Amino acid sequence: MAAKVVVVGGGIAGLAAAYRLRTLHPAAEITIIESAKELGGKLRTRELAGRSVDVGAEAFVTRNPAAVRLVEELGLTENLVHPVLSAATVRAAGRTVALPKRTFLGLPVSADEVRDVLSPDGVAKVAGERDLPPLHVEADPDAPDVSVGQVIGERFGRELVDRLVEPLLGGVYAGRADMLGLRATMAPLVGKAQTLTEAVGKVLGPPRQGTQPPVFGALRGGMASMVDELAKRAAARIRLGLPVRALTRTARGWRLEIGSAAAPEFLDADAVILAVPAPAARKLLEDEVPAASAAYGQVEVASMAVVSLALPPDAVLPESTGVLLAVGERHADGTPFTAKAFTFTSRKWGRADGEPVQLRASVGRYGEAEALQRDDDQLVAAVVSDLWELTGVKIAPVERIVTRWGGGLPQYGVAHTAAVASIIDAVNKMPGLAVAGATLRGVGIPATIDSANTAASAIGAYLTSRSGEISAPSGLVGD
Ligand SMILES: Cc1cc2nc3c(=O)[nH]c(=O)nc-3n(C[C@H](O)[C@H](O)[C@H](O)COP(=O)(O)OP(=O)(O)OC[C@H]3O[C@@H](n4cnc5c(N)ncnc54)[C@H](O)[C@@H]3O)c2cc1C
Repeated sequence: MAAKVVVVGGGIAGLAAAYRLRTLHPAAEITIIESAKELGGKLRTRELAGRSVDVGAEAFVTRNPAAVRLVEELGLTENLVHPVLSAATVRAAGRTVALPKRTFLGLPVSADEVRDVLSPDGVAKVAGERDLPPLHVEADPDAPDVSVGQVIGERFGRELVDRLVEPLLGGVYAGRADMLGLRATMAPLVGKAQTLTEAVGKVLGPPRQGTQPPVFGALRGGMASMVDELAKRAAARIRLGLPVRALTRTARGWRLEIGSAAAPEFLDADAVILAVPAPAARKLLEDEVPAASAAYGQVEVASMAVVSLALPPDAVLPESTGVLLAVGERHADGTPFTAKAFTFTSRKWGRADGEPVQLRASVGRYGEAEALQRDDDQLVAAVVSDLWELTGVKIAPVERIVTRWGGGLPQYGVAHTAAVASIIDAVNKMPGLAVAGATLRGVGIPATIDSANTAASAIGAYLTSRSGEISAPSGLVGD
């Protein structure tokens, strides 16, 4: 009998895990159970003014090659696109200036990098970091982490945190620098050097000459093509609109309770891959893996919204890929901005003549739920007004989509690396169980794919180890 594996969650983590498992165990019976009505999770493509746009994740970094490799493996290389412009800007102290290029999440390789963004005092403070006593942050994931805002504020000055670090971290986590952990969010810098300035230099390496390799990739036609291809190649049974409500161990594996509480359905599996956000994982692991459940419970999540706008074809946006907003920026009349960042999609990825001009605004950060407590019309009006203030472009959108991502991004706080170590430790002790997803070791698409590959390999090895009981290893059966 073929091994039965259930993947809970049909976001990129669940889909990539199911696909990877299929390559490892071609004969396995894989089922993906997804509570929403469609696959993809935070990857969601919609039509806006006749063009496909991503209203969740829109791009992936290439520094971690996992996403590019998966795109190649899936035969989607023809759809892979890179930005046609790389000129981001930041609004700080009422001015919009170029985003410094040689920084790691806002930490500069030298004070010269940040001269246009910071005040002279702020630049002097940044310049002094390399002369401070060495910074020691324990590399051990169980050791206490330190807050990004606190350490960087003390060493580089609060201006750098507010004007560069927080806007950049906000883009990744929708988080606050004071709450996020240094080791959890800036791991490559930890243990690299005596000071953070030196560590950034080591991580970035010497400035490169000539044409730079692209930093980001995206998919023409949207992320949906990756979602669809993964679903196809995973050759899984896909069940949509059904939440998994409970997970219990049985003598042979796992039993899942799915569907509504009133009319539950039960499903038995030899193995389970749990690829759901932290609040759902906390609930599902509560009875059988309480230590992992408790650790998932420590991971807070931030809500945000993406406002996607199409402007008439003759609208002219600034010649940049977008603008990040520093902490505390205000309109000239003193009202705060609603958006925390704009991406000028048409500038960044290009557009054909005569097509509408596309852009999107991100709204909301951890602890700022009030920004989202407005209806769609109010949210659109607020970001249109922000756009006017920032760029002088005052044009009514021809179409818009407001996408709300409640609890969309996990917060990698100071207890995060310890929580993840506890999750992995507790889950590894449970035969036939693995976890994947953005809660673990990176929220971006590539890191999430890495977590899926790790989970699939663990379950693949488990199935192989039990092949005499539940199935023959891949390639030996013809069912
Ligand atoms: C607005 C936004 C923009 C982003 N932009 C980028 C970007 O440009 N680049 C980038 O690299 N990353 C980006 N990210 C981050 C990245 O998209 C996500 O971290 C990643 O896609 C998460 O994948 P996942 O599979 O772990 O989780 P999810 O995508 O959340 O998938 C989990 C799935 O599990 C389902 N589920 C939950 N509970 C249950 C249950 N009980 N039973 C069954 N199913 C359940 C959910 O419905 C969901 O579909 C962005 C995130 C957001 C929110």
